[in-house]
Order: sequence, then C-alpha cells, then structure tokens
Amino acid sequence: MNMYDIITKKKNKNSLTRGELTYFIKEFNDGNIPDYQAAALLMAICINGMDEEETTNLTKAIVDTGEILNISETFDFTVDKHSTGGVADTTSLIVTPILASIGLTVAKMSGRGLGHTGGTIDKLESFPGFNVELSNQDFLNQLKKINFALISQTKNLAPADKKLYSLRDVTATINSIPLIASSIMSKKIASGAKNIILDVKFGKGAFMNTIDEAKNLARLMVKIGKNFERNVVALISDMDNPLGMAIGNTIEVIEAIEILNGKYVPRLSELCERLVIELLLISGYCEEEKEAKDLYKDSIESKKGLEAFKELIKEQSGDYTYIEDPNKFCKAEFSYEIYSEEDGSVKRIDALSLGKVAMDLGAGRKVKGDEIDMQAGIKMHKHVYQKVNEGDLLATLYSNKSIPDDLVSIVKNSFYISKEQIEELPVIRNIIK
Ligand code: URA
Ligand code: CA
Repeated sequence: MNMYDIITKKKNKNSLTRGELTYFIKEFNDGNIPDYQAAALLMAICINGMDEEETTNLTKAIVDTGEILNISETFDFTVDKHSTGGVADTTSLIVTPILASIGLTVAKMSGRGLGHTGGTIDKLESFPGFNVELSNQDFLNQLKKINFALISQTKNLAPADKKLYSLRDVTATINSIPLIASSIMSKKIASGAKNIILDVKFGKGAFMNTIDEAKNLARLMVKIGKNFERNVVALISDMDNPLGMAIGNTIEVIEAIEILNGKYVPRLSELCERLVIELLLISGYCEEEKEAKDLYKDSIESKKGLEAFKELIKEQSGDYTYIEDPNKFCKAEFSYEIYSEEDGSVKRIDALSLGKVAMDLGAGRKVKGDEIDMQAGIKMHKHVYQKVNEGDLLATLYSNKSIPDDLVSIVKNSFYISKEQIEELPVIRNIIK
C-alpha cells in the first residue's frame, strides 16, 4: 500500500477501503507520511467527499491511534454532549450538572475557545483553583465518587485528530462534512460514553452556515455513532442569533448559576431543557417525555443541579463558594452601556459580530496561547424578538482594557430593530435520531 495510489484513488472519486484509511491514519500519526501527501489526500476528500462507510472507517482509524475509555462497562447511563460551537452557548455548564443531579454519569471532555466561539474549559477557569486536567485514573475515580467530571481533553485520546486538525487548519480543508464528522465523533467515541447528544448549530455565528449543511453533518454523525453502538441524537439549533444573554467567560458562568437557581432565559433555557430530555430518553433513563420534563424541572426547583455544580467545582479543587455568592467574581475595570435609539422589536442580533467583539474585548483568543480576560465580554439585555423602546438598555460591554469606540458601534449595529411584525422562529429547528 502506498500514499500515491490512495491519493489517486480519491482524486478519481473512488471509495477508500478500511485498510487504506487505517494505513493512512496510522502511518500519518506515526510520522511516516509527509504532510504534503496527507494534505493532498485531505484536499481530495474535501472536494470529492466520502460516504458513510468510509467516514465510519476513518473515525475508527482515528480512535485506534489512542486510548479508549470504556466507561460504559463500569457505569450505567453514561452521557456526553457536544456542541459544534456558538456564541453565548452556555448550555454545557447548565445541562451537565442537571444530568448529574438526576443520577446519570456525566463524563465530559471539553475544549477551549478559539476564534469567536467560547469554550467550556476556559469558562470553568473562572473558579479560582479549578483543575481542568485530570489523569484518566483520576477522571474515573471522580466518576465513581460523584458521577460527574468535566475536564480538558486528555492527550492520549484520538491523537491523530489533533495532528490532522492542525494540518487541515492551514490547508483550507477544515470545511468538509466527512472530515468534521470523523473528527468530532472520534473524540466522542474514544471518551466512551454510551449516550451522546450533539448540538449542531447553523447560521452566521456557526461552523455550518446553512440549516441543510447542519442537517447533513448531524445525520452523518448520528449514523457514525450508531455504527459504534452508541445512542446518539442531534439537535439542529439556530446560531444566527446568540443563544443566551451573556458572551464571555465569567459572565457566562454567572448566567449558568442564575439558571440553575431558577431563572428562565428564553432560548437558552429552552435548549437546555430539550438537551436534557433527549438524553434522558435515548439513554433509557426515562420512558416518557413527561417524566423527563419533570426531572428537569425538579432539578432546577430543588436546586439539585446547582448542588451538583458545586460538587464538581469542589471535587476539581475550585472555590465553590463563588456559586453561593457570585458577587465574589471579579468585575471588569471598564464597562460601556448601549441604549436603543428607536422603538420596535429586535429582529436579529448578529451572533458572529458580537462573538468577534467579545474576543476583541479580551474574552477569546486570536491565536493559540493568547491570554484570556475572564471578565471581558458582552451582556445583552434584550434578546431576539423582544420589544424595545427608545432609551432601553440593549447591551453592556466589559473589559479590563479601555473599550474602543469602533467596538461600541459594531455592537450597536448588531441589533437590528424593526417596527414591523416579526415572525418568531424556534431555537431548535430539528431533532435527528
Ligand atoms: N470541531 C472538531 O472537533 N473537528 C472539526 O473538524 C471541526 C470542528
Ligand atoms: Ca464548546
């Protein structure tokens, strides 16, 4: 077997065999295939695509370059969640403690933010002392103790994915549905949970710009998951508009604490509830939707979800007293309030622009390794479809460096206010099982 023939085959629009894909991934991961040949094959895949069987085989090959955590052999009702990334997407910080409080085993590895989308791991570092890096053994021990762990992805899971991603990033080959599907699913399969929910976003602020692309990606990922005998469900959700009301790190943690304390945030709360319900159903923990709905409601009303969040922070060495008193979180040195100059309803809020402004304020990284300003970000006071009057507060910008005028005007222009009747579209557009 050699790379030249494999590249030629894909260039000529033929399907690659399991053996060919395994050879490529194993040898590439071991450093035996030069980047130029790997990049040529990735480009051929990007242009000519791969079918479900090829994508499953590619996923398997990537998984096999590292360890696999067999947590579903030790624990019942293991769950994992993945979001394709968004703006004001605080769902993981709400959904995971709720699921843990209900009694499922939540074993989640999360990422850091890159570009205009946030990352759960960065947000959690708002808690002084919080440790995001656990060994596999400590991860398993914590699951035994509190059925809940939320950590940064360990290096020995799907290592080939990291190498492939770095190469794709500089060769314009990120944007391929089979490559994205195998990349995401390899990490989910290796982390071992039996029940997986995927939140696939579409819109200007998302990876997938159109709803059709998002559906195709979701369908493929659900099929791959099933081929690995996992229960998988995917939601297709709107990312033209920000999901919640906070964009940043500490301010998103505060929003999560508020929701776990009983606050209802339109769109964000709705999506969280649906994510929990679908996981309770696919995992077989609940048979009826009504039962699942009641468990979600009870977790919030009884504050069991909030308790589970405290337990997580405490177990991973963080200062959980910040959950009891969120006023302890530091405030940003600078802030700027933006008011509406007209009456009407919010027709759209540009998620991509706000995500980029939040990053410029210091909430995200422009390049890997950039330092994050935990207090920086944007708090919205109006959500999409809400009525506004002239003089109403629309948004507050926060930063620890002075806030430039151009960022203020971008935020102002990101709120589209209309006098016309607006058709309200639901945040969840599809559920793919
Ligand atoms: N997220 C991933 O983990 N991989 C991709 O290829 C794209 C998004
Ligand atoms: Ca994320």
